[in-house]
Amino acid sequence: MSEATQIIAIDGPAGAGKSSTARAVAERLGFAFLDTGAMYRAATWWAVHNNINLDNPEALAENTRQMHLEMFEVDGVQQVTVNGHDVTEAIRSPEVTSLIYRLDQNADVRQQLVALQRQFGEKEPTVAEGRDIGTVDFPKAGCKIYMDASPEVRAQRRLKQLADKDIIEAYEEILQAIIERDTQAMQRVESPLCQAEDAVRLDTSDLNFNEVVEAIITLARKDLCL
Ligand code: C5P
Repeated sequence: MSEATQIIAIDGPAGAGKSSTARAVAERLGFAFLDTGAMYRAATWWAVHNNINLDNPEALAENTRQMHLEMFEVDGVQQVTVNGHDVTEAIRSPEVTSLIYRLDQNADVRQQLVALQRQFGEKEPTVAEGRDIGTVDFPKAGCKIYMDASPEVRAQRRLKQLADKDIIEAYEEILQAIIERDTQAMQRVESPLCQAEDAVRLDTSDLNFNEVVEAIITLARKDLCL
């Protein structure tokens, strides 16, 4: 199996809509779906759960080595377990989200998670989404997309997602948090968020969900000769 024909790599900043579109593309094409952000989230949850000092890189790396991570779908919904704990909801908590940057800069932790991600992608045709899929995980992926949208549009989408769950937050605060996460992701030393040279940039600011899915499927069919 050639890596170049099997992987659709989708990278981009937080809130660009990568997860939901990647999942829909995978379903339409019959590919597996790999949410790499969930793995960084799980490793962060596991470190907090075990009271690991987040300033201690060796302890963080060792703790990650002890993590037994499982990701699977039940009725189309992704489930995540860590050493037997169901952490599906917990890894999306504001606490975990705010602490991931303490771990995602750790080269050893990243190597461990990238190795897991490659194992996953080598098994079957996969749509993988994250920050460094096309640059680090699968540099030879046959189809690479960098999904972007303006911070303002991403903040508006987040506001709506939260409102749909009856959570009211101030637009300005959401926007500020998005800009901060972008800066952290782009300025970190380890695998900073950047567009791979051979990735197609897809600005989704003026596209709806279905239009984004169709655009990616059209690209993937061409690039992967599907
Ligand atoms: O995509 P999601 O928001 O779930 O990702 C959570 C965090 O995990 C990101 O903000 C980033 O810090 C980290 N991450 C990463 N590399 C990836 C995927 C996610 O550093 N490939």
